[in-house]
Parts: sequence; C-alpha cells; structure tokens
Amino acid sequence: MIIDTQDLAPQDWAARFSARMAGIRASEIRELLKLLEQPDILSFAGGIPDPALFPAGPIRQAYAEILGDGAQAAQALQYTVSEGHGPLRRWIAERMTRDGMPCEPENVLLTAGSQQALDLLGKLFLDPGAAVMVARPTYLGALQAFNAYQPAYLDLPEGALTGDKAAQAAVEARKPRLGYFVPDFANPTGVSLTLAEREALLDLAESLDFPLVEDGAYRELRFGGEAIPSLLALDIARNGSIEAARTLFCGTLSKTLSPALRIGWICGPKAAIEKLVLLKQGGDLHVSTINQMVAHRVVSEGYDQHLGNLRAVYGGQARAMLAALERHMPAGVSWISPEGGMFVWLTLPGGIDGKALLERALVDARVAFVPGAPFFAEAPAANTLRLSYSLLPPEQIEEGVRRLAGLIGE
Ligand code: PMP
Repeated sequence: MIIDTQDLAPQDWAARFSARMAGIRASEIRELLKLLEQPDILSFAGGIPDPALFPAGPIRQAYAEILGDGAQAAQALQYTVSEGHGPLRRWIAERMTRDGMPCEPENVLLTAGSQQALDLLGKLFLDPGAAVMVARPTYLGALQAFNAYQPAYLDLPEGALTGDKAAQAAVEARKPRLGYFVPDFANPTGVSLTLAEREALLDLAESLDFPLVEDGAYRELRFGGEAIPSLLALDIARNGSIEAARTLFCGTLSKTLSPALRIGWICGPKAAIEKLVLLKQGGDLHVSTINQMVAHRVVSEGYDQHLGNLRAVYGGQARAMLAALERHMPAGVSWISPEGGMFVWLTLPGGIDGKALLERALVDARVAFVPGAPFFAEAPAANTLRLSYSLLPPEQIEEGVRRLAGLIGE
C-alpha cells in the first residue's frame, strides 16, 4: 500500500504538552542572531568566552594522562556518584572557603554547568505561581530555567535595597518564595551589587524569610575595583555557619576554563544540597566523570595565573569598548562601566527600539548585539541593549562601536 504522506493530518502535539509548556517559547532574537554565521559581521552578541583563552594544551594533556593510565581510565569512563567527583568537590569547597565561604565538600553538588544548577533550584523551590524576585533586568537563561516551574516574577523595585519603605512593602506584598541575583558583573548589565546592597538584600530575605540564589558565574573575572564579599559569605558571617545560611551559591568553570566541559556547582547548606543530589540523580545521574577528572587536573596547576591572564584580556577589551563608546556614541546614549565580566549595558534615547535597531544593524552596519527587552521579567525597557566585548580584539571593538554609533546617530 502506498500512502501519500501529504494526506495525513499531523498529530496535534500542542494539545498533549503539559500545562507548564505554556511558558516555554523560542526567542525571536535567537532567530535573528542566526545571521551571525556570516563572517563579516562584528558581533557583540554572544556572551561567551574568547576561545583563544581556552587552556587547550593542559586539557589535552589531562585527557591523555587520564586515559593513558589503566586504573584512571577505568574510573574516568565509568559512572560516578551524583554528588560529584570527590577531588573536584574538595577543590571547589577549598576555593569557596578561600573566597570567604567556609564550607565542606558535603556542601557542594557538581552540576552540568551552572545552567543546570538553576534548573535544579527551580525544581527544588518553585510551585506554580510562586513569586521569584529578580533584578531588573536579569539573566535570561535563569528565566528560561525557572519558566518550566511556572513562577510569577517580581522585579526588585528600585529603592528596595536603599531603604525605600514603599519599595520594601511592594516586595512584601508579593510574598517572594525565592530571590535570584547575579551580584558580580551581572549578565546582562555588568553591574555589581555594592556591599550595602548585598547586606540589604540579605536583610530583606531574612525579614520575609525566603532563600536566595546567588549566581556567581562571573565572580572570578574582576579586572577593576575591589572584591566585594559574596552574598553567601555575608550570610555565613551573620549566621555563623553555612548550615544556618539561606543563600545557595552557583559557580561554574565555563567562563574560566571551558563551557564545553559542563562543570558547575551549587554550594549551600547540606539540608538543601542533599535534596538537590536526589534531583540531580533523577535528572542525569552525574556530571561526566572524565570531564570532572580533567577539570580537577587542570585547575590543580596554575589556575590563578590563568585567571590573571583572563582578567587582563577581558579588562583590555572592556577598556577598548568604553573608550570607543565615549568617542563615538551620540548624546542621549548612556551605558554602565563594568569592573569585570563580559558586558556593557546601553540605554538609548527613549524612542529607539533595541530589536528594530538590531534588524538594521545586521544589514546596514554589519554589527550584532542583543536587544535588552528579553532580559526583563516584567515590563521590558525596549530602548536597551547588551554589548559583549569578549569575542573581539580592541581594533574590531572600536570599529563595531563606530558603526553602531553611526546608525544610532541617524
Ligand atoms: N549564569 C549566568 C549569569 C550566565 O551568564 C551563564 C552563561 N551564559 C550561566 C549562568 C550558565 O553558564 P554555564 O551553564 O555554562 O555554567
């Protein structure tokens, strides 16, 4: 029998998806940014590490040494425990301790990048309708991770961390179940919370009794200013021990070693980590054993020197971008100078829409960036955009900014 497939009605998949899929949608901007494949476009879009900075040599050597040793190869290619490879877990606990967050390996769960950490934390804390308090704007990937758990978002109102009682009352009225923040060099704004804002955020979380997720993805990429204690460090300092803290810190080796290794972690009180281990087990059992062993070998030697190099390169790129913005941007455009990370956040004069500007920039200026609107959980500010300087050398940053400024000037 020959069936003409054109006559068959397609399955009505949409009717079968779970209710939670209503909040899961593709981003228009990703579609637009597919144009980036074209080689003559200068891209400030991808918030990703410069591949020239990957420690490919040490990574290659680590794989070779592990696989060249019978006993290690047998371990590396086998399943492992959901908590994570012991030596790497210990290294992370020691590193967190040195960064002001005294903890034990049992306070650490290895995850497939910090993106999976956000998914697991959403699963752990969020019922449908639960209010998640986020910065305005915030990391789009966190919204995407949490969306599967059908939360209701609440932007941190202006003034809530600087003593504005009305703003604090607005937060209280929404009864947050969770707070999510990127206190150091946030994606997308590059902004860091001041020490006073961090303390105020902890005060707010304490008084309304909700847990905090601290996303420390860029924390190690400071190239200017003074280090500020993490939220978790301040939380431990005020409560005496990580077991009494309400903050869960998400870390990652993606920005410092390589995102392809997919090595991230959650560090927090054991009572939460133990539940997260069960979720990790149900989700994907564990992070790749060999990648954890490789990562451990690579970070065990010369990691701080490597970080110094990254900071010098990203700092140089950031300075090039800030100088180019000063030189070329027309009046009415403002931006925030970062002290670390990969991003500069631009605000355009009110009438200019970031997405419309991107459409023209790709065609007329051969420059790409990410419009700001998708980074807002509530009421997007369309006249914003995110520029990343991590992928281009200073001369091309200058040229890209010049072209973009020309277009905005029109
Ligand atoms: N958090 C933030 C703020 C990020 O910018 C990113 C990467 N874009 C992640 C988490 C996730 O990174 P990974 O899963 O590679 O650790």
